[in-house]
Amino acid sequence: MPNTADVIIIGAGVHGASLAFHLAQRGVKPIVLEKDFAGAGATGRSSGLVRMHYDVRQDSELAWVSFGYFRNWTERVGGESGFTRTGFLQIVARENEAALRKNTAMHQDTGIASFLITANDVKRLVPSFVTDDFDVAAYEPESGYADPSATTASLINAAKDKGARIVQDCAVTGVIVKSQKVKGVQTLQGDYFAPVVVNAAGPWAAVLNEMAGLDLPYTTWRHDTMFVGRPKEMGPSHPTVIDFPNEMYFRPETGGLMLVGLEDGNPLGDSPDGDTDHAIKGFVERAIERICQRVPIMENSYLHTAHGGYDGITPDQHPLLGQAGPDGFYLQCGMSGTGFKIAPAVGLCMSELILDGEAKTVDISIYRPQRFVEGKEITGNYESIWH
Ligand SMILES: Cc1cc2nc3c(=O)[nH]c(=O)nc-3n(C[C@H](O)[C@H](O)[C@H](O)COP(=O)(O)OP(=O)(O)OC[C@H]3O[C@@H](n4cnc5c(N)ncnc54)[C@H](O)[C@@H]3O)c2cc1C
Repeated sequence: MPNTADVIIIGAGVHGASLAFHLAQRGVKPIVLEKDFAGAGATGRSSGLVRMHYDVRQDSELAWVSFGYFRNWTERVGGESGFTRTGFLQIVARENEAALRKNTAMHQDTGIASFLITANDVKRLVPSFVTDDFDVAAYEPESGYADPSATTASLINAAKDKGARIVQDCAVTGVIVKSQKVKGVQTLQGDYFAPVVVNAAGPWAAVLNEMAGLDLPYTTWRHDTMFVGRPKEMGPSHPTVIDFPNEMYFRPETGGLMLVGLEDGNPLGDSPDGDTDHAIKGFVERAIERICQRVPIMENSYLHTAHGGYDGITPDQHPLLGQAGPDGFYLQCGMSGTGFKIAPAVGLCMSELILDGEAKTVDISIYRPQRFVEGKEITGNYESIWH
């Protein structure tokens, strides 16, 4: 296999896969170098929520453009993303109602199908939910969840059909720079050369940034999830929910299961190579207590499985997107626990940035890696999500 390409992408998570897909669509021939196998990192552990509710306009725009792909996956990409429409509810405590209203108005302005509904409406939708701790919720009837592994595999397959290549079991061990320009990478399978190298290495991205001489604020975020049985009284399905008062999210899963994740107690700074086959001690007990607060009949449930995953996270919990360091070195990392649902649009915008000098689909300049030294961290209408 020739060891030259138009673009080298480090990492075959959903972001590397999306970029490869969009570059290949434009006739560019990228090569994706993956140390393990496609989807082995954050992507393979992702809960797959697909919703547009964010408190920063560009985040919602990226999710909305991506939603157009999820909704028409077979036509736009080919294969399957496993998108399942459940409807989505964003529940916030009364003190966050003003922010919820502001965000929903922004979503509607963006064109997103999002509405404010009352606590009584939520009760009508899902009688098993406790609804006495909030007055209004945001409802996205079209949202739901998808299958991150299937999404990644179909993006890779579509990219390969258009001339992209992927080399798995190929860890990048160095970035080759000459005269301030990136020339390629060193790997355990030899050197590869390209005028553009993109760091899409998820929770491992800090190591690659250092190899390129970059000093950026970046750490890891650990997140556990559990699958529990859904009592028959809940019916065949229920909306996907982000429940701020209980610092939790949950969604239905096939096989009569429910997936639950917590927004607090997610350790920062651990090695991304830690054990992800098991959840950390105490997580399951906390998650069961939390889900029973919103859905008391979950007391009749049972534990199916629990496991963990790692993502890359930045101080403002937003991605690093753009050029940084040597000429030709780009970042598409730091997805901060919410990067799955935006991946189709981020890959598109990054392909525009690399090929045209500017992203046209969504203005991604707020995510530029230089924002931290410029004192321009991204802030939204809610307090920080993950802690
Ligand atoms: C448990 C969990 C639940 C989540 N739930 C959601 C959700 O519901 N909705 C949502 O939108 N987001 C969610 N996220 C976030 C989302 O999954 C991630 O933001 C997204 O998957 C990141 O994709 P990525 O391609 O950037 O990184 P990854 O999927 O981690 O991919 C990076 C790849 O780079 C490879 N790599 C690393 N170093 C090297 C190297 N030196 N050489 C070659 N290859 C290398 C890795 O092996 C890996 O395959 C969740 C994350 C976790 C952990």
